[in-house]
This record gives sequence, C-alpha cells and structure tokens, in this order.
Amino acid sequence: MLEVRNLHVEVDGQKILRGLDLTVRPGEVAAIMGPNGSGKSTLSYVIAGREDYEVTAGEVLLDGENVLEMDPEVRAAKGLFLAFQYPVEIPGVATMTFLKASVNAQRKARGEAELSTPDFMRHVKQGAEKLEVNPDMLKRPLNVGFSGGEKKRMEILQMALLEPRYGLLDETDSGLDIDALRIVSNGVNALRAANRGFLVITHYQRLLDYIKPDVVHIMSKGRIIKSGDASLALELEKNGYRDYVADAA
Ligand code: ADP
Ligand code: MG
Ligand code: MG
Repeated sequence: MLEVRNLHVEVDGQKILRGLDLTVRPGEVAAIMGPNGSGKSTLSYVIAGREDYEVTAGEVLLDGENVLEMDPEVRAAKGLFLAFQYPVEIPGVATMTFLKASVNAQRKARGEAELSTPDFMRHVKQGAEKLEVNPDMLKRPLNVGFSGGEKKRMEILQMALLEPRYGLLDETDSGLDIDALRIVSNGVNALRAANRGFLVITHYQRLLDYIKPDVVHIMSKGRIIKSGDASLALELEKNGYRDYVADAA
C-alpha cells in the first residue's frame, strides 16, 4: 500500500502541499485531477525523491516503510516509478544502454542477477513492439530528437521493463495525439495487476476514458478536497472545478 499522510511541503519557503492525505491500494488506479498550480507535480516529485522540496511534516509510506528517508535509487528499487511530465534527454547514451543500466541497477538493488545482453534485448524488443516503439529508436540517445509521443511511449516502455509496485504518471497525456494516447494507455492497462497500483495525474478527463480509474481525487491548494469514483471525472469535465474550488476559473 502507498500512503501519504498529512504531507506538508515547501519550495523556496512557499507552502505548496498543505496536509495532503492519500492512499493507493495494490491493484488500484487512482487519478488525481485539479487546477494548474494545485501541487500535483510537486506531490509526484516528492514521492520520487527529487531535490529542492522541503518536507516540513507528514510521511509517505510504502508498505509501512517511510520512503522519504530513502534515496531516490532505493525508492526505485523498492518499486516506485515516476514518469516525468517532461522526460529528460540524455545525449551520448543509446536508449538501449540506458534501459539496460536502469533495469540491472534495480535488479542488483533487489539482490537479483543481472540480465544477459541477449535476454535483455529480447525482453526490450517484445515490449517495444507492444508499445509501437520503432526498434531503431533504441539505438539513438534517450529522448534526443524524440517527438512528444515517442518520449511518452519510451517512458511507458521503461516502466514496463522495471515492473514497479507503483507507477506515478504525471500528465502523461499532455501533448499526445489520439493514437499516441491510445498506445500509451494500452501500455499502462497491460501493466495493471493485482499487486500493482497507479497514481495517474491529469489535468483533463480524456486520459481517463482510456485508463479507467477506480478512484478519482480532486486536489486544490495542496490538499485532496474531494474523492469519488470515475463519475467524478466526468462531472468535472462537464462543470469544471467551480463546484469544488472557490476561485477556479
Ligand atoms: P500542478 O502540477 O498541480 O500544476 P505544481 O506542483 O507544478 O502544480 O505547482 C504547485 C505550486 O508550486 C505552483 O504555485 C508553483 O508555482 C509552485 N512551484 C512549483 N515548483 C516550484 C519551484 N521550484 N519554485 C517555486 N515555486 C514552485
Ligand atoms: Mg501544472
Ligand atoms: Mg503539474
């Protein structure tokens, strides 16, 4: 279980998360929606362990262990995966090399044997086919010159290879055309499993037509202000945030 309890976070002395509570159960897809600036990305960065975010109170527990005390690498090894809103470019490193290094680093941290190169390549190629990632892209440097859709598909491929306990997707839908959205969503849906949870952060309801959430949370000003089932997202699509957020446009 992934539990966020009374989380307070500041950046540059500015309060961004203000007592956020959230539980994602294994097997569950939880969506977080909310106006721009409500702190959605901040939440995912803090869970993943990005620097520059000061946790002033609260905790984040993965199966009862406080992940805030772990280095980002340890969090990843324990099964947290963050798909970044703006995937980083890594010039000079072939994507295949990057993927192999990240998978083997995780296997090592879990005390598992490294995969051999042929085994790994077979594994990647199967995944790439499912996500309609052109195998030639695996020879190119990670994300350099990739289109928005290609970056997102590569991210989901990375997630599929790392087989996380919890996947955090922050605005994975932004900038995707309808075909890329379908491919990315199918990739996520294929990873849904009884022992795996997802936190899907999105500004728009559209993604949730493809990745059906079990729970929808609305976030505003650094807190969850309302939770419901998938129908809450549809209602938001129709009426906007005005019923829940006093100063929403
Ligand atoms: P969302 O993802 O919901 O749009 P963010 O988590 O990106 O929200 O941002 C929440 C608030 O925190 C915004 O008001 C934003 O301006 C502020 N913020 C985020 N990152 C920083 C930063 N590095 N320095 C100062 N303010 C920040
Ligand atoms: Mg934003
Ligand atoms: Mg954001």
